[in-house]
Amino acid sequence: MNFEYTEDDKKFIEEFRRFCEKEIGPFAEEIDEKGEIPRSHFKKLADMGYTGMLVPEEFGGTNLGYLKTVYAQEILAEYCGATFFSVGASCGLMGLPLLEFGTKEQIQKYIPSLMSGEKIGCLGVTEPDAGSDVANIKSVARRKNGKLLLNGQKTYITNAPIADFATVLADYQEEDGKSYGLTAFLIETNRKGVSKGKPMKKMGLKGSPTGELFFEDVEVYDSDILGRRGRGFMIIMDAFNRERLSLGAYCVGTMAACLAETRKFSRTRKTFGRPIYKHQSVAFMLADMLIKYEASRVLLHETAWMMDEYSSKKKSVKHTHNGYPVDLTSRTAELKLMASTYAREVCNNAVQIHGGAGYMEEYKVARLYRDIKIGEIGGGTSEIQKQIVAHSEAKRIK
Ligand SMILES: Cc1cc2nc3c(=O)[nH]c(=O)nc-3n(C[C@H](O)[C@H](O)[C@H](O)COP(=O)(O)OP(=O)(O)OC[C@H]3O[C@@H](n4cnc5c(N)ncnc54)[C@H](O)[C@@H]3O)c2cc1C
Repeated sequence: MNFEYTEDDKKFIEEFRRFCEKEIGPFAEEIDEKGEIPRSHFKKLADMGYTGMLVPEEFGGTNLGYLKTVYAQEILAEYCGATFFSVGASCGLMGLPLLEFGTKEQIQKYIPSLMSGEKIGCLGVTEPDAGSDVANIKSVARRKNGKLLLNGQKTYITNAPIADFATVLADYQEEDGKSYGLTAFLIETNRKGVSKGKPMKKMGLKGSPTGELFFEDVEVYDSDILGRRGRGFMIIMDAFNRERLSLGAYCVGTMAACLAETRKFSRTRKTFGRPIYKHQSVAFMLADMLIKYEASRVLLHETAWMMDEYSSKKKSVKHTHNGYPVDLTSRTAELKLMASTYAREVCNNAVQIHGGAGYMEEYKVARLYRDIKIGEIGGGTSEIQKQIVAHSEAKRIK
């Protein structure tokens, strides 16, 4: 892989940064305070082409690939984590599996309005008793008197309070209780029997609404099934590979923001007659931040490049790492585990270097510190990521 940006990349990155600096960054504090993202953010990012970067041309996208997408994701995360999450849940978590497994009709029904920012989507997997333990999902679509009725509850769902559409994972059962396994259903949230809880109060990412979805005898149809009946688990696991890549970009972007803020602060803040970056303990913390940021960024870019290779060669490519084949599930888990651990540490250093000021909401690092914890929880906790990596490593040793 060549790590040098092409002229085209440079132009794209500069343009996208200018856009975020003007249209996203200045609103981040207000979004955090109000606990709400303006709908115009979705539309502006769509107009900028951000939401269509992984969408094929035939469906109105630019299909620029994962590497270019993570360049843009890093920048958006640097300016506003809440916007990053909500737009990502709509276009990434809901949109990308739809593009990969949806029928032409389903794609035409949902994708244009999701990608234009006119409608908002979400992905409903987690339930009160099923987070890490996805197989314990209790939501069920069961046939009754010829109708297929969905009952259940989803929780901690990004965008649930504002979503127009949802992909919902539920067991598919026949009238006699025979199960076909977890199945992904595409549903409009204004369908009879669907209701939403209030936005949940969170420690961070306050502008990105999170909440519950309830399903009471919601009539669903076979035409609502994404992919095939019983293939929901596989579809969601595939979606999680992309989610982990995207969370890696979120962590890297947040680390970049911490570095920028802390460099600025440590240059101007003076103690004992000199700028604080000249004190060795502070300089070492800054060095530590830089190392963690750069190491994560290299892993992020290499993983994105592998995913581009993997999709362009239709999954036949085998990457090697020290002579071993690389499995992308494990690689994206490795990335998220490392980048989220480092990002939490980097945010901690950023606040520490700001001293008392770092504890004050008027400094950006306070928000970054609150926001970043999601990296170690969302898209599968760090403990689950380690299990994935360990499982893959054990297969290589065998
Ligand atoms: C802000 C936010 C946004 C979210 N957005 C979405 C969304 O859009 N869609 C969605 O479906 N979900 C979403 N989630 C849910 C998220 O994916 C889950 O919270 C996460 O997967 C953990 O599940 P849990 O909360 O049930 O924790 P649990 O699974 O109950 O885990 C509790 C603790 O036990 C550990 N643990 C569990 N099992 C094991 C094990 N086998 N071995 C070792 N340790 C274990 C975990 O690592 C964790 O430390 C979101 C969560 C948050 C906080």
